[in-house]
Amino acid sequence: MYVCSDCISSPTARQFVRAKGGAGTCELCARAVDLCIDNREMAALFLAILKMYGKPLATSPTAGWTLADVMQKDGLVVFSDSVPIEGRNRFLNDLLKSPKIKAEGWWTSPFGSDMYYKDMFNEKATYSLSAFLASHIKTP
Ligand SMILES: [Zn+2]
Repeated sequence: MYVCSDCISSPTARQFVRAKGGAGTCELCARAVDLCIDNREMAALFLAILKMYGKPLATSPTAGWTLADVMQKDGLVVFSDSVPIEGRNRFLNDLLKSPKIKAEGWWTSPFGSDMYYKDMFNEKATYSLSAFLASHIKTP
């Protein structure tokens, strides 16, 4: 899926699009743009996050939150506000690369109440992708 830097909010991911992107049509906002990239090229950037979220509890079309919903509730800022949840999940499915694990499943936060409640009680508590990576992933 081709995505443009306008549909991405994370400074880390935007920088990636600016460095490696080319002209094309964004599949999230349907605009022809100078800078967009096949999101699978960003897979390494999202690997640690997706590993942390793991797998959906169940696949249920009627209950629970999708992966994109849970990431938003955790305050993990990846996408621009204009990108609908459905588009975010399509983006994540490309990175999950699995016929069995779908972003539309029933997901929960691996952070438990830690990040979720922070978000619930403080609407301004959001975490940028780069800050998230810096605080949750140990680099050697
Ligand atoms: Zn776009």
